[in-house]
Amino acid sequence: MSKKVVSSHQPRPPHMVGDGLPVRNLFSYNDLGKSQLSPFLMLDYGSPSEFPPTEKKLGVGMHPHRGFETVTLVLQGGLQHKDTAGNFGEIGPGDVQWMTAGKGVLHEELHSESFRKTGGTLQMVQLWVNLPADKKMTEPRYQTLHAADIPVIVGADGASKTRVISGKLGDVSGPAKTFTPVNLIDIEFTGKGRLSVVLPEGYTTALFVMEGAVTVNGTDTTDGISIMILERNGSKIEMAADGPARLLILNGKQIDEPVVGYGPFVMNSSEEIQQAMQDFSSGTFSTAQ
Ligand code: MN
Repeated sequence: MSKKVVSSHQPRPPHMVGDGLPVRNLFSYNDLGKSQLSPFLMLDYGSPSEFPPTEKKLGVGMHPHRGFETVTLVLQGGLQHKDTAGNFGEIGPGDVQWMTAGKGVLHEELHSESFRKTGGTLQMVQLWVNLPADKKMTEPRYQTLHAADIPVIVGADGASKTRVISGKLGDVSGPAKTFTPVNLIDIEFTGKGRLSVVLPEGYTTALFVMEGAVTVNGTDTTDGISIMILERNGSKIEMAADGPARLLILNGKQIDEPVVGYGPFVMNSSEEIQQAMQDFSSGTFSTAQ
């Protein structure tokens, strides 16, 4: 049975994260990410932006997170990550960083050194994935997933390339380790084409379309950069593109727990948020490891 489209949402106006990451927010834990899109909390999209070569370390400096995971996809350009758990990673086009903040980490997210030198186009996505209550205080973890390690499925008509970043699509598994079932699928239509996918029944499902337009089940067409939410019932999505298009399928098992977020902290209660702020200001985030 096909999944029906529930609603479609446009991004907010652009804002700058730090001094080098221009993004448009599609949803956050204060709106669709509160429960409707669980386990997904937030999505920021950095549409293609030009940067001249610079010596300056553009991006966002050391800042904390607790209680969830940040997933960063670079489509064009390059980013680098450094955190207080001792992790460092540089990612380029097609690469993904999957960082588990868990009990608390400080990190910086900057343009990569090689990108700073050459300048060029930066295009990126950052998705926040919630952790269940019993994993919110887990040890921080960091996964660099290089494009070469992410399996690609070429569409039967040759018009699409589908990458499984986490979870499964059919019998293809993605490399990212997750704490709850999350199928994160990256689809690029290189031209006019069609693609059907079958996803687990009952999971939260949304299509984030960043480029081009996609018609779902022959009836609903996306309008510009948008997030289209599908019902949890049903399992099949039929997509058609008239030309080049790029989208992510966010598919995951709902975490049925309260979501209380404040800035970079997402916990289950306001007491836990207070605790996070206390721990951050007393410096335990940077020494916890
Ligand atoms: Mn961050």
